[in-house]
Formats: sequence, C-alpha cells, structure tokens
Amino acid sequence: MTLDIRHNVPLAPLTTFNIGGPARYFTYVRTENDMREAVLWAKQKSIDFVILSGGSNVLIPDEGLNKLVIHVIKGDFSIREQSLTADAGCNLLKLIRAASENNLGGWEKLAGIPGTIGGAIRGNAGAFGTEIKDLPVKVRALNYKTSEIKEFQNADCGFAYRRSFFKDNPEWIITNLAVRLLKVAEVESIRLIEYTIAEREQRHLQNIQAAGSYFMNPIVPPVIQELFENDKGLKSKENRVPAGWLIERAGMKGVKVGDAISSIQHPNYLVNDGNATAKDVKQLAQSIKDAVHAKFGVNLCEEAVILS
Ligand SMILES: Cc1cc2nc3c(=O)[nH]c(=O)nc-3n(C[C@H](O)[C@H](O)[C@H](O)COP(=O)(O)OP(=O)(O)OC[C@H]3O[C@@H](n4cnc5c(N)ncnc54)[C@H](O)[C@@H]3O)c2cc1C
Repeated sequence: MTLDIRHNVPLAPLTTFNIGGPARYFTYVRTENDMREAVLWAKQKSIDFVILSGGSNVLIPDEGLNKLVIHVIKGDFSIREQSLTADAGCNLLKLIRAASENNLGGWEKLAGIPGTIGGAIRGNAGAFGTEIKDLPVKVRALNYKTSEIKEFQNADCGFAYRRSFFKDNPEWIITNLAVRLLKVAEVESIRLIEYTIAEREQRHLQNIQAAGSYFMNPIVPPVIQELFENDKGLKSKENRVPAGWLIERAGMKGVKVGDAISSIQHPNYLVNDGNATAKDVKQLAQSIKDAVHAKFGVNLCEEAVILS
C-alpha cells in the first residue's frame, strides 16, 4: 500500500462518543504491512502516533491530536477447519457472525460489543461471563520500537479483567490473530448471538453516544462487597463491585456537566447527550470519582482511554 496521509481529519465521527477535535495527520491501515509503513512514516518524520480502531472505548480531546492517527479498519479474515484468522481491524460482531455461518462458535456472548477484534484483545473485552481471555487465541503483534513481529499464545497475553500484555506494553501493536473455535450448529449459534444482542439492548441502551462503561469495576474491601450483595442480592465477583452501583449510591446517577450525563439507565455509561465536549466528560468523571471516594473511600479508574 502507498500510504495516504491526510491532514486535519475530524475524529469525532470515528468514535462512539462523537466527541473531539481533528487529527493533524491521519491514515488508514488494514494489514500488518500497512501498519509497518505507517509506523515507519511517523518514525522517519519524528511524529508521535496513536492507534484508533473502532473508536468505541476512547475519548478524543477537544483540541484534537497533534499526531499521526493510525486508523485500523476492516481488514480480511479467513476460516479454515476450526480456525479463524483475522486482521486486527475486523469488526468483532462480523467475525462472530461469519464463524457461526461456518458452524463455529463458543464466543457468541461477546456479540454486540462494538469495535474491532484488535481493540477487544487489547482490553480483554467481555460480557455475560465470557471474556477474550477464555478463547484459545494466538495474537500477532508489531513492536514499533524494535520493528519485531512476535506471535503470542493466549498464556503470553497477560489477560486479566480488562487488561492484557498489550495494554500494559503499548509498544506492541496487535496486527492480527488466529482463534480456534468450537464446532457448533449454525442455528443454535445464531440464536445465541441474537439473544445476546437483545439482552444487551434490554439491560442498557446500546445505540448511544458513549464509550461503554467509563470506569472499571473496582476491587473493594469486604464491607463494601457485603453492602453490594445485600443491596442487590447478587454475589460480587473477584472482590469487585460494579462501578455503576457505586456511582448510583454516591448520588451521581443522572448528574450532568454540560451535555455529558451519567446515564440514568446505566450510571457507568457517561453519555454525550447532545454537544458534550471532552472537557465536560472529564469534569463529570472527576466529580464522580470524588463522590465515590468521599462515600466509599474507593478510587475509580477509567476503562475508556483518554487519547492525548
Ligand atoms: C455501547 C457500548 C457498549 C460496550 N459494551 C462493552 C462490553 O460489554 N464489554 C466490553 O469489554 N467493552 C464494551 N464496550 C467498550 C468497547 O466496545 C471495547 O473496549 C472494544 O473492545 C474497543 O475496541 P475498539 O476497536 O473500538 O478500540 P478503540 O476504542 O479504537 O481503542 C481502544 C484502545 O485500544 C487501543 N487499540 C485499538 N486497536 C489496537 C490494536 N490493534 N493494537 C493495539 N492497541 C489497539 C487504542 O489505541 C485505544 O487505546 C462498549 C462500548 C460501547 C460504546
């Protein structure tokens, strides 16, 4: 590919938040080779770069990014026997559906998580008790500092709750992956995909301007776990309680700063309710953190990535 470097490209429409200013430099990549070229271009020009894939877990600053934004898009995938191989920019739901048409599954509960498979691996995305970490994945990544390409088996990926080796070591850019899936009946698999998507819609609105859960569910002391369990009649998992519950109990559900609001339906979704700015979202996030800390002594940490 010959790199197509553009200038002053609006980024807000490329994010689910629909917030943020333009990229000073911008390019699309699909393949590992495209990624190599883009990174090399930035290196040669001594320009910093940032990866933007599905844009469903990022907040772009109002002033934009004085960098090269490498937008990972579409890419190819193939299915052979029980193995699906895909470029990092493939849409996760599209892959899940394609696998199921080939009688392969086991990851249907991830259906409906917006964004790309690369983004999902980086954040160990998960829903309804299934996470990327549960899949037998083999991930290929490029180290932009050394130009090394390496294959990581699942055990090398450092997966934990919303964490991975790649999140902790951002010099490694995920370029593609292979996942070994289970043999399933297409009809059952499609049914589970549709059920999962409907369940997501029912629990909280999916078609909104947000980045999903803004904060990670924090590990809390036993006394707070007990409060949660008594209040909700649910067991806390891995010593964590939902950030949304803490936000609600701290009186921050529905609180608004400018056009940014903590969703009434799912308080851990900070929603762009019109023309919110990144500044509004950050101010709202800070007031939520302060309120939760004041009430529970718990520090919330962002799951959404504030690009800078
Ligand atoms: C309505 C809604 C519902 C959501 N529900 C869920 C849910 O149920 N579970 C869940 O886990 N998440 C959920 N999310 C969050 C989001 O969809 C996931 O985090 C998703 O996996 C992000 O993928 P992306 O391609 O959009 O990444 P982006 O938002 O583009 O990027 C996120 C981060 O990953 C980095 N990155 C992206 N691609 C790569 C790559 N190839 N190599 C290295 N780094 C990379 C970026 O630089 C950035 O730091 C939801 C979001 C929305 C808007």
